[in-house]
Amino acid sequence: MKYIIQTITESQFEILGSEVEFKKGKAYEPIIIELEDGKKVEITGKIDRIDLAKNKNEKYVRIIDYKSSIKNIDLNEFIAGLQIQLLTYMDAVTKEDDIIPAGVLYFNLIDTVVKANRNLTDEEIEAEIKKQFKMQGLILADVNVIRMMDKKLEKGASNLVPAYIDTKENISEKKSSVITKEQFYNLQKYTKKIIKQIAKEIFNGNIEIEPSYNTKKKTTPCDYCQYKSICNFDKTKNEYRYVPNLEKQIILEKIEEESKK
Ligand code: SF4
Repeated sequence: MKYIIQTITESQFEILGSEVEFKKGKAYEPIIIELEDGKKVEITGKIDRIDLAKNKNEKYVRIIDYKSSIKNIDLNEFIAGLQIQLLTYMDAVTKEDDIIPAGVLYFNLIDTVVKANRNLTDEEIEAEIKKQFKMQGLILADVNVIRMMDKKLEKGASNLVPAYIDTKENISEKKSSVITKEQFYNLQKYTKKIIKQIAKEIFNGNIEIEPSYNTKKKTTPCDYCQYKSICNFDKTKNEYRYVPNLEKQIILEKIEEESKK
Protein backbone atom coordinates (compact mmCIF):
# COMPACT_ATOMS: atom_id res chain seq x y z
CA MET A 1 0.00 0.00 0.00
CA LYS A 2 2.83 2.38 0.95
CA TYR A 3 4.33 2.10 -2.53
CA ILE A 4 0.99 2.65 -4.23
CA ILE A 5 0.57 5.83 -2.17
CA GLN A 6 4.06 7.00 -3.20
CA THR A 7 3.01 6.91 -6.87
CA ILE A 8 0.66 9.76 -5.92
CA THR A 9 2.45 11.64 -3.13
CA GLU A 10 5.69 11.78 -5.13
CA SER A 11 3.95 12.92 -8.29
CA GLN A 12 1.72 15.75 -9.45
CA PHE A 13 -0.94 13.27 -10.49
CA GLU A 14 -4.08 12.81 -8.46
CA ILE A 15 -6.42 9.85 -8.44
CA LEU A 16 -9.39 10.76 -10.61
CA GLY A 17 -11.15 7.51 -9.85
CA SER A 18 -10.75 3.87 -8.86
CA GLU A 19 -12.70 0.95 -10.32
CA VAL A 20 -14.06 3.36 -12.92
CA GLU A 21 -16.57 1.89 -15.33
CA PHE A 22 -17.02 2.81 -18.93
CA LYS A 23 -20.51 1.77 -19.94
CA LYS A 24 -23.86 3.44 -20.48
CA GLY A 25 -24.87 5.57 -17.50
CA LYS A 26 -21.44 5.40 -15.88
CA ALA A 27 -18.51 7.83 -15.62
CA TYR A 28 -17.40 7.21 -19.19
CA GLU A 29 -19.36 6.16 -22.24
CA PRO A 30 -18.69 2.73 -23.72
CA ILE A 31 -16.54 2.48 -26.84
CA ILE A 32 -18.82 1.99 -29.83
CA ILE A 33 -17.35 0.39 -32.92
CA GLU A 34 -19.45 0.48 -36.06
CA LEU A 35 -18.92 -2.23 -38.65
CA GLU A 36 -19.28 -1.77 -42.42
CA ASP A 37 -22.68 -3.51 -42.42
CA GLY A 38 -24.07 -1.10 -39.80
CA LYS A 39 -23.79 -3.49 -36.84
CA LYS A 40 -22.49 -1.86 -33.69
CA VAL A 41 -20.24 -3.32 -31.05
CA GLU A 42 -20.20 -1.84 -27.59
CA ILE A 43 -17.10 -2.28 -25.45
CA THR A 44 -17.50 -1.80 -21.70
CA GLY A 45 -15.09 -2.30 -18.85
CA LYS A 46 -13.76 -1.31 -15.45
CA ILE A 47 -10.48 0.55 -15.00
CA ASP A 48 -8.54 -0.05 -11.77
CA ARG A 49 -7.33 3.52 -11.47
CA ILE A 50 -7.28 6.72 -13.52
CA ASP A 51 -4.88 9.53 -12.56
CA LEU A 52 -5.05 13.11 -13.73
CA ALA A 53 -2.51 15.95 -13.68
CA LYS A 54 -2.87 19.46 -14.99
CA ASN A 55 -0.40 22.13 -15.96
CA LYS A 56 -1.14 25.59 -17.37
CA ASN A 57 -2.90 24.48 -20.54
CA GLU A 58 -3.06 20.71 -20.57
CA LYS A 59 -4.67 17.81 -18.79
CA TYR A 60 -2.77 14.54 -18.66
CA VAL A 61 -4.26 11.18 -17.90
CA ARG A 62 -2.65 7.90 -16.99
CA ILE A 63 -4.24 4.49 -16.62
CA ILE A 64 -3.04 2.25 -13.80
CA ASP A 65 -3.76 -1.46 -13.71
CA TYR A 66 -2.97 -3.54 -10.62
CA LYS A 67 -1.55 -6.98 -11.31
CA SER A 68 -0.75 -9.80 -8.92
CA SER A 69 2.27 -10.89 -10.98
CA ILE A 70 4.96 -9.06 -12.91
CA LYS A 71 3.50 -7.63 -16.09
CA ASN A 72 4.73 -5.16 -18.65
CA ILE A 73 3.48 -3.93 -21.99
CA ASP A 74 4.95 -5.98 -24.79
CA LEU A 75 4.45 -4.17 -28.11
CA ASN A 76 4.92 -7.42 -30.02
CA GLU A 77 1.94 -8.87 -28.16
CA PHE A 78 0.08 -5.62 -28.71
CA ILE A 79 0.52 -5.68 -32.49
CA ALA A 80 -0.63 -9.31 -32.51
CA GLY A 81 -3.84 -8.14 -30.80
CA LEU A 82 -3.13 -9.88 -27.51
CA GLN A 83 -2.46 -6.97 -25.19
CA ILE A 84 -4.91 -4.23 -26.04
CA GLN A 85 -6.60 -3.82 -22.66
CA LEU A 86 -4.85 -0.72 -21.32
CA LEU A 87 -4.91 1.13 -24.64
CA THR A 88 -8.64 0.38 -24.90
CA TYR A 89 -9.06 1.94 -21.45
CA MET A 90 -7.03 4.96 -22.52
CA ASP A 91 -9.25 5.38 -25.54
CA ALA A 92 -12.35 5.30 -23.36
CA VAL A 93 -11.14 8.16 -21.15
CA THR A 94 -9.49 10.46 -23.70
CA LYS A 95 -12.54 11.27 -25.77
CA GLU A 96 -12.38 14.92 -24.72
CA ASP A 97 -9.99 16.70 -27.09
CA ASP A 98 -7.95 18.43 -24.43
CA ILE A 99 -6.92 15.26 -22.58
CA ILE A 100 -3.45 13.98 -23.40
CA PRO A 101 -2.44 10.37 -22.75
CA ALA A 102 0.46 10.35 -20.28
CA GLY A 103 0.86 6.67 -19.57
CA VAL A 104 -0.55 3.17 -19.42
CA LEU A 105 1.06 1.46 -16.47
CA TYR A 106 0.97 -1.76 -14.51
CA PHE A 107 1.51 -1.66 -10.76
CA ASN A 108 2.69 -5.15 -9.90
CA LEU A 109 1.50 -6.28 -6.46
CA ILE A 110 4.32 -8.71 -5.83
CA ASP A 111 6.10 -10.24 -2.86
CA THR A 112 9.45 -8.52 -2.94
CA VAL A 113 12.77 -10.28 -2.35
CA VAL A 114 15.95 -8.29 -1.78
CA LYS A 115 19.12 -10.20 -2.64
CA ALA A 116 22.49 -8.91 -1.40
CA ASN A 117 26.01 -10.19 -0.87
CA ARG A 118 26.67 -7.79 2.00
CA ASN A 119 24.70 -6.27 4.86
CA LEU A 120 22.44 -3.53 3.57
CA THR A 121 21.31 -0.51 5.53
CA ASP A 122 17.60 0.02 6.11
CA GLU A 123 17.68 2.82 3.53
CA GLU A 124 19.30 0.57 0.93
CA ILE A 125 16.72 -2.18 1.55
CA GLU A 126 13.95 0.39 1.26
CA ALA A 127 15.41 1.69 -2.04
CA GLU A 128 15.65 -1.88 -3.42
CA ILE A 129 12.04 -2.65 -2.51
CA LYS A 130 10.87 0.63 -4.03
CA LYS A 131 12.67 -0.25 -7.28
CA GLN A 132 10.78 -3.54 -7.44
CA PHE A 133 7.48 -1.67 -7.19
CA LYS A 134 8.36 0.66 -10.03
CA MET A 135 5.44 0.80 -12.44
CA GLN A 136 5.89 -0.82 -15.86
CA GLY A 137 4.32 0.10 -19.16
CA LEU A 138 4.45 2.99 -21.61
CA ILE A 139 4.67 6.67 -20.80
CA LEU A 140 4.68 9.91 -22.74
CA ALA A 141 8.09 10.97 -24.07
CA ASP A 142 8.08 14.35 -22.41
CA VAL A 143 10.59 15.33 -19.71
CA ASN A 144 8.13 17.67 -18.00
CA VAL A 145 5.42 15.03 -17.85
CA ILE A 146 7.91 12.46 -16.57
CA ARG A 147 8.80 14.88 -13.78
CA MET A 148 5.10 15.35 -13.09
CA MET A 149 5.03 11.59 -12.49
CA ASP A 150 8.14 11.70 -10.31
CA LYS A 151 8.67 15.05 -8.60
CA LYS A 152 11.99 13.95 -7.08
CA LEU A 153 13.53 12.98 -10.42
CA GLU A 154 16.27 15.30 -11.61
CA LYS A 155 18.65 13.03 -13.51
CA GLY A 156 19.00 9.28 -13.95
CA ALA A 157 16.39 6.59 -13.48
CA SER A 158 13.00 7.21 -11.94
CA ASN A 159 12.01 4.89 -9.10
CA LEU A 160 8.34 5.25 -9.97
CA VAL A 161 7.99 5.07 -13.76
CA PRO A 162 10.04 3.54 -16.61
CA ALA A 163 12.04 6.68 -17.45
CA TYR A 164 15.66 7.79 -17.44
CA ILE A 165 16.71 11.41 -17.92
CA ASP A 166 20.33 11.91 -18.96
CA THR A 167 22.70 14.73 -18.09
CA LYS A 168 21.67 16.71 -21.19
CA GLU A 169 18.02 16.64 -20.09
CA ASN A 170 17.14 14.09 -22.78
CA ILE A 171 15.09 10.96 -22.22
CA SER A 172 17.23 7.88 -22.74
CA GLU A 173 15.35 5.75 -25.32
CA LYS A 174 17.22 2.62 -24.26
CA LYS A 175 16.59 2.99 -20.54
CA SER A 176 13.03 4.27 -20.79
CA SER A 177 9.74 2.99 -22.10
CA VAL A 178 8.38 6.04 -23.87
CA ILE A 179 6.31 6.94 -26.90
CA THR A 180 5.15 10.25 -28.36
CA LYS A 181 1.64 11.66 -28.11
CA GLU A 182 1.03 10.79 -31.80
CA GLN A 183 2.22 7.23 -31.18
CA PHE A 184 -0.21 6.96 -28.28
CA TYR A 185 -3.03 8.04 -30.60
CA ASN A 186 -1.86 5.55 -33.26
CA LEU A 187 -1.91 2.75 -30.69
CA GLN A 188 -5.43 3.73 -29.67
CA LYS A 189 -6.58 3.75 -33.32
CA TYR A 190 -4.94 0.37 -33.90
CA THR A 191 -6.72 -1.01 -30.82
CA LYS A 192 -10.08 -0.06 -32.32
CA LYS A 193 -9.09 -1.69 -35.59
CA ILE A 194 -8.28 -4.94 -33.78
CA ILE A 195 -11.60 -4.84 -31.89
CA LYS A 196 -13.42 -4.27 -35.19
CA GLN A 197 -11.63 -7.21 -36.77
CA ILE A 198 -12.44 -9.48 -33.80
CA ALA A 199 -16.09 -8.37 -33.89
CA LYS A 200 -16.35 -9.12 -37.62
CA GLU A 201 -14.92 -12.60 -37.08
CA ILE A 202 -17.40 -13.26 -34.26
CA PHE A 203 -20.35 -12.14 -36.43
CA ASN A 204 -19.04 -14.30 -39.29
CA GLY A 205 -19.03 -17.29 -36.98
CA ASN A 206 -15.28 -17.78 -37.10
CA ILE A 207 -14.47 -20.08 -34.21
CA GLU A 208 -11.20 -21.43 -35.57
CA ILE A 209 -8.79 -22.72 -32.94
CA GLU A 210 -5.93 -20.26 -33.24
CA PRO A 211 -3.72 -20.13 -30.14
CA SER A 212 -0.90 -17.63 -29.97
CA TYR A 213 2.73 -18.59 -30.48
CA ASN A 214 5.39 -16.24 -29.17
CA THR A 215 8.27 -16.41 -31.66
CA LYS A 216 10.76 -14.84 -29.24
CA LYS A 217 9.95 -16.92 -26.17
CA LYS A 218 8.97 -19.95 -28.29
CA THR A 219 5.95 -20.49 -26.06
CA THR A 220 2.23 -20.94 -26.52
CA PRO A 221 -0.57 -20.95 -23.90
CA CYS A 222 -1.21 -24.55 -24.99
CA ASP A 223 1.95 -25.47 -23.04
CA TYR A 224 0.11 -25.13 -19.75
CA CYS A 225 -3.55 -25.25 -20.83
CA GLN A 226 -5.96 -27.40 -18.82
CA TYR A 227 -8.25 -27.91 -21.81
CA LYS A 228 -5.66 -29.53 -24.07
CA SER A 229 -7.34 -32.90 -23.93
CA ILE A 230 -10.68 -31.62 -25.21
CA CYS A 231 -9.76 -28.74 -27.53
CA ASN A 232 -8.47 -30.79 -30.47
CA PHE A 233 -5.83 -28.29 -31.55
CA ASP A 234 -3.79 -30.03 -34.19
CA LYS A 235 -0.59 -28.42 -35.49
CA THR A 236 -1.08 -30.10 -38.86
CA LYS A 237 -4.58 -28.66 -39.37
CA ASN A 238 -4.81 -25.49 -37.27
CA GLU A 239 -2.75 -22.31 -37.44
CA TYR A 240 -1.03 -20.40 -34.68
CA ARG A 241 -1.51 -16.65 -34.27
CA TYR A 242 2.15 -15.65 -34.30
CA VAL A 243 3.47 -12.97 -31.94
CA PRO A 244 6.35 -11.37 -33.85
CA ASN A 245 9.76 -10.48 -32.48
CA LEU A 246 10.27 -6.98 -33.84
CA GLU A 247 12.15 -3.93 -32.59
CA LYS A 248 10.04 -1.23 -30.91
CA GLN A 249 10.62 1.30 -33.69
CA ILE A 250 9.55 -1.13 -36.42
CA ILE A 251 6.35 -1.97 -34.52
CA LEU A 252 5.53 1.70 -34.03
CA GLU A 253 6.08 2.37 -37.76
CA LYS A 254 3.84 -0.58 -38.70
CA ILE A 255 1.14 0.63 -36.32
CA GLU A 256 1.39 4.13 -37.78
CA GLU A 257 0.90 2.74 -41.31
CA GLU A 258 -2.01 0.56 -40.18
CA SER A 259 -3.73 3.36 -38.31
CA LYS A 260 -3.74 5.51 -41.48
CA LYS A 261 -5.61 2.88 -43.50
S1 SF4 B 1 -4.81 -26.21 -25.82
FE1 SF4 B 1 -6.57 -25.49 -27.01
S2 SF4 B 1 -7.81 -24.31 -25.59
FE2 SF4 B 1 -5.78 -24.55 -24.69
S3 SF4 B 1 -4.66 -22.71 -25.32
FE3 SF4 B 1 -4.21 -24.28 -26.81
S4 SF4 B 1 -5.72 -23.96 -28.42
FE4 SF4 B 1 -6.48 -22.85 -26.63
